[in-house]
Amino acid sequence: MNIVCIGAHPDDCEFFAGGTALKWVQQGANVLFVSLTNGDKGHFEILGPELARRRIKETEASAKIAGVTTMVLDIPDGELMPTLELRKKVVDIIRQHDADVVLTHRPNDYHPDHRYTSLLVQDAAFMVTVPGFSPDTPRCASNPFFFYFQDLFTKPTPFSPDVSVSIDDVIETKWLMLAAMESQVYEWLPWLDNKLDEVPKSQPERLEWLKKTWRPFFAEFAQHSFAGLERRYGTEKAQKVQFAESFEICEYGRKPTPEDLESLFPL
Ligand SMILES: [Zn+2]
Repeated sequence: MNIVCIGAHPDDCEFFAGGTALKWVQQGANVLFVSLTNGDKGHFEILGPELARRRIKETEASAKIAGVTTMVLDIPDGELMPTLELRKKVVDIIRQHDADVVLTHRPNDYHPDHRYTSLLVQDAAFMVTVPGFSPDTPRCASNPFFFYFQDLFTKPTPFSPDVSVSIDDVIETKWLMLAAMESQVYEWLPWLDNKLDEVPKSQPERLEWLKKTWRPFFAEFAQHSFAGLERRYGTEKAQKVQFAESFEICEYGRKPTPEDLESLFPL
């Protein structure tokens, strides 16, 4: 199985699919995390190439923990546009990695880079099979399955958990994957949230702080995943799940059957 996870920034795939990726890797799947931008605006002090270099190093450290491969395109943060050139690039990445499953953001999201990443992946979903489009890269012989990451936006439609994965068994490793993105979880995101002075200095204390800070966010995701968890694990087990990642079907790729959902996603 080849999984291609396409996020806008160097931390999106880790946040929204890190646990499922860990479980896929345990099953022997190849997982690629792609960031379409280099993340060079995501800080309050360091900017430009210096930040981009730091963020590449962080994704590599996180990928090493997870056992996934990472790719960061050199497009400035906040400046992603859904161009024909990039549509071809996204098509080529999906083809070159012979993807069975592609994951990305939903099209309605607060961040323009997330929205355009979604649009680019949607635009690639059929074109990956068309031999005359970007003809130098051989087409996908069969159309991959495309899914969206979970989010909490409700307009025009709230997220529907078509398939949910309990990640309680890998959550400790997911925390380490997130902790590796130091410039984000210990600097930029707390700064945005006016919490920079709360962040402890020592490593073990920081990790505990990270868990405490993000647990409610992930718990809310698990709550909104309940229908998907219940379908897969039964009511009793679903009620005990603390951490979950869910995915919604993108209608533009291959249509998964209930059996496909069961076999594509780790339990
Ligand atoms: Zn992002």
